[in-house]
Amino acid sequence: MTSLNFNQIKDVLLKQRQEIVSRLHDFEEGWKDLGEHDIEWQEEAQKADLTSLYDFLDEREVDKIEAIDHALSKLATSGYGICEQCQKMISDKRLEVLPTTRWCKTCAESKTA
Ligand SMILES: [Zn+2]
Repeated sequence: MTSLNFNQIKDVLLKQRQEIVSRLHDFEEGWKDLGEHDIEWQEEAQKADLTSLYDFLDEREVDKIEAIDHALSKLATSGYGICEQCQKMISDKRLEVLPTTRWCKTCAESKTA
């Protein structure tokens, strides 16, 4: 069905996931340091600002992690590489470029059109 090496894709996805997680962790540590160094940061209003900024950045990264986890679970259940909309095989080339994609090129294009 495909010449793609699923183990290789899995490694790539796990690596990407690890990078995002460690980046989020660094970010979180950075805010903690700020909080510890300056008592003013503890004021409620500022805390709220920090929280919303953190949530905003966090959400985009969390989306990426979810996409990676979704792809990993499909790899585990051998549903990987099949378009979730039309159930056809997604091309190897597309999977190489977008390993977390859920749709074939045609379906993805029909979504953005
Ligand atoms: Zn499709």
